[in-house]
Amino acid sequence: MVSSIHVSQTSLKRLMKKSIKTKICKVCGTEFKPQNSFQKVCSAVCALTLVRQQKSKEKRQKQKAFKRKCNVEKREFNKRDIRWQHKQTQKAFNKMRVLQELEWFRQRGLEPTCISCGKPKGNDQWACGHKKTQGGNSRLRYDEKNTFLQHNYSCNMQKSGDIEGYEKGLIERFGEEEGKALIEYQNSNTHDKKWTCEELEEMRKKFNVEIRRLEKQMQDIAA
Ligand SMILES: [Zn+2]
Ligand SMILES: [Zn+2]
Repeated sequence: MVSSIHVSQTSLKRLMKKSIKTKICKVCGTEFKPQNSFQKVCSAVCALTLVRQQKSKEKRQKQKAFKRKCNVEKREFNKRDIRWQHKQTQKAFNKMRVLQELEWFRQRGLEPTCISCGKPKGNDQWACGHKKTQGGNSRLRYDEKNTFLQHNYSCNMQKSGDIEGYEKGLIERFGEEEGKALIEYQNSNTHDKKWTCEELEEMRKKFNVEIRRLEKQMQDIAA
C-alpha cells in the first residue's frame, strides 16, 4: 500500500515538472527552464534588472499621473479665467469666419477678395477683419456682421483695419442698401457686453463644429 502511494506521488511530481514548459526570459530574451510557473527571468542578474525596470516603470507612471493632475488643474483654472476664454474663443471665431468667407466667395464662383482694398490674396494671408475692433467693442467681437475677409498684413495690421476702405468695400460687395445696413448695425451695437466663461465656452464649441464642417467640405471639394 505504502509503496504504491509513493510511486504515484513521484509520477505526479514528474508530471508537474513536465507541465512546466521552457520560457523566454522577460529581460534578455533567452529560452530557459523555469523552476516554477511563476519564474519570469532566466537568472539572478536578469531578476535584478527586472526589479529595476519595474521600479523605473512605476516612477514613469507616477510622473505621468502627476502631469495629468497638473493638466486637469490647469484646465480647471483656465475655465474660470475670462482672458484665456476670450483668447481661445476669438481664435476659433476668427478661423471660422475666414472659412465662412472663403465659402461665401466659392459659392458665387468668385475669387476671394479683401473687404477693404478689394484685391485678391496675393502674397499676404487672409485674416478675419473686424470693422469695430475686438478690444474696444466687446459686443461685436464675435459678430459675423462685423467681420469680413481682409488682408492680414497689408490691411488689417498695417492700416489698422482701414475703416474707410472697409465701409466702401461693404457697399461694393453687398450693394448700397445691404452695405449701409451693415455699417449702421456696426455703429449702433457698440455698447459693451460682459461675457461669461460659460457663454464663451458654449460659443467656442459651436464655432469648432462649424470649422470642422467647413474644413471637411473643402477637403471633399479638393478631392
Ligand atoms: Zn535573462
Ligand atoms: Zn486688403
